[in-house]
Amino acid sequence: MSDPEELGFATRAIRAGHHRTEEGEHSEPLFATSSYVFSSAAEAAARFSGEAPGNIYSRFTNPTVRAFEERLAALEGGERCVATASGMAAILATCLGLLQAGDHIVSSRGIFGSTTLLFNKYLARFGVDISYVPLSDLAAWEAAIRPETRFLFLETPSNPLTEMADIQALADLAHGRSCLLVVDNCFCTPALQQPLRLGADLVIHSATKYLDGQGRCIGGAVVGDEKLVGEAVFGVIRTAGPSMSPFNAWVFLKGLETLQLRMQAHARSAQRLAEWLVEHPAVTQVYYPGLPSHPQHHLVGKQQQTGGGILSFCVRGGRSAAWQVIDATRILSITANLGDTKTTITHPATTTHGRLSPEEREQAGIQEGLIRIAVGLEDPEDIRRDLARGLDAIRH
Ligand SMILES: *Cc1c(COP(=O)(O)O)cnc(C)c1O
Repeated sequence: MSDPEELGFATRAIRAGHHRTEEGEHSEPLFATSSYVFSSAAEAAARFSGEAPGNIYSRFTNPTVRAFEERLAALEGGERCVATASGMAAILATCLGLLQAGDHIVSSRGIFGSTTLLFNKYLARFGVDISYVPLSDLAAWEAAIRPETRFLFLETPSNPLTEMADIQALADLAHGRSCLLVVDNCFCTPALQQPLRLGADLVIHSATKYLDGQGRCIGGAVVGDEKLVGEAVFGVIRTAGPSMSPFNAWVFLKGLETLQLRMQAHARSAQRLAEWLVEHPAVTQVYYPGLPSHPQHHLVGKQQQTGGGILSFCVRGGRSAAWQVIDATRILSITANLGDTKTTITHPATTTHGRLSPEEREQAGIQEGLIRIAVGLEDPEDIRRDLARGLDAIRH
């Protein structure tokens, strides 16, 4: 294939990473094999010593997994991608690959719950210190950096309030202070936002979400340059073992082929829903980057192409009203997952953010009346009607 950098996004999403075998298959083959056979003892010795390239064992390399890695690297504009067993495994492998006791990291406060737990409960036990800052407060990031800070970590937009960080500004800040910028790009995917092109050093994915797109498999990935990803992160994966299964890689490969179309459709429906919610008398606030009222709306079109597929809104009447809206739906799925063709609806205060104390929730802006929607690909009018049933019943 020609140089992936010269091809458009949709073409890379469909064509990159597949090296057709002598069978002439059109669709990407699934190599369901744990190990590989050598033609001689000498060849085995050469592969094990690293003198000769080639497969040894699927914990290290597998052709289907590699096809997914090459395709995602081509989409994010990274030199190298390493696939992992889950999004959390991607974050863990990044930490194990880059950090040692005595190091410090600065993280956005508004990150995925399990990531916070990984940092606080496990990394801290191995002598890594963590500081948390508000995502969009550049001065707070700057003030938190110390000589021993190894990287800054963030998700943008944040969950569930869709707050955004200026990736380019944070990359400049990190590099000026000799640290790296790590971005969890799960919510936007490379179809809407490519952090490496904005100066980030590493991109993390939970492939479980939009890359799969149909809620089938668990997986993750890290994308970046050869040194950080090909050496540091890959070294952890091949030794510690949170590798991606070939079957999951095959599902994600096929998911990537429709990623751009799906992300555009998710965002179109989310925009429409957000604009309707803003006008609804039972709704006090809507959080969606695509609305002009969003505090970082200026980054839409510049940093991320659209507002994305996720929005939150607050209803009058607190928890009971929010639960009433959720329970009145007949189509939407009541689940905390996201990135599926099926629209999901969540009450963050009692689910994803339920373990926080009321003060921590207050500080994080997670109100009792808050509802998060990960907008799926159903007919947008059906999604709207499903929400209207509960919202119209709220007395105002
Ligand atoms: C789901 C998610 C993860 C974790 O991914 P898993 O595949 O569930 O391990 C990490 N970051 C974000 C933003 C997520 O939504």
